[in-house]
Amino acid sequence: MYVRKPEWLKVKLVRNHNSVEVEKLLKDLELNTVCEEALCPNRGECFHKGTATFMILGRNCTRNCTFCNVTKSKPEPVNEKEPKNLAKAVERLGLKHVVVTSVTRDDLEDGGAGHFAKVIKEVKNLNRKVTIEVLIPDFQGDEKALKLVADEKPDIINHNVETVPDLYPGVRPRAIYKRSLEVLENVKKMDSSILTKSGIMLGLGETKEQVVSLMKDLRKVDCDIFTMGQYLQPSKKHHDVVEYVHPDVFDEYKKIGESLGFKYVASAPLVRSSYNAVEVFEKIKGK
Ligand code: SF4
Ligand code: SF4
Repeated sequence: MYVRKPEWLKVKLVRNHNSVEVEKLLKDLELNTVCEEALCPNRGECFHKGTATFMILGRNCTRNCTFCNVTKSKPEPVNEKEPKNLAKAVERLGLKHVVVTSVTRDDLEDGGAGHFAKVIKEVKNLNRKVTIEVLIPDFQGDEKALKLVADEKPDIINHNVETVPDLYPGVRPRAIYKRSLEVLENVKKMDSSILTKSGIMLGLGETKEQVVSLMKDLRKVDCDIFTMGQYLQPSKKHHDVVEYVHPDVFDEYKKIGESLGFKYVASAPLVRSSYNAVEVFEKIKGK
């Protein structure tokens, strides 16, 4: 099914001095970003501001989400230099707030949690003032693995539920909605000072009732920050865009989310879970 893209989603990809610098640095330090892998529409803006979301543990994912542009293939060996290199990149880019995510590594015993922990440690060792947000996979519900990450005290742990539970079989076939909620719940049990965050894409066929019910589920596990953006189809092979949700509807969801008690709700067509991450963090902390 083809739905024509509306005007509000047409973004010009700006390439400038800053974006070229960021790309060169990433290449030199053998680092990947989700910005490039997911063909994020905000690349021009974010690279211009000198921010990026790092993607650790390789470029190949062991899951098969139908909306995602990341390569689904045999996982690569873990690059042991990555934690130090990532910290160097944070320093050279002068980042105040760093977002780190990964592909899902169901092939690794701890799902890559130990590697996340090393990255947080290296970034903190290099600069104690940098705040860290990690966007983690579900580690197949392994609490010991999750604890490795929580023990390093990142400022925010994000785990995206991505869509409403009824759409999981067609969107996130190897994920479990309840398990994802438990990840967020367990973070708070392990360390209530860590902010939790989650997000979804709209336009995959969800109803308003389903979205509101999902927001309530997230509040029940004390999730602090919620993000919503329009799903964009990376290629014809990916999940269809069922609907381009009007910006007014995003505004309405934002108000509902705020009334449910989230500390911050980012809801607009071009919002991605790491979009304006630094501004969101500073707002919550009142900086
Ligand atoms: Fe993409 Fe994450 Fe799904 Fe892997 S688990 S296919 S990286 S959304
Ligand atoms: Fe990268 Fe996130 Fe910005 Fe997209 S919104 S370009 S993923 S930092």
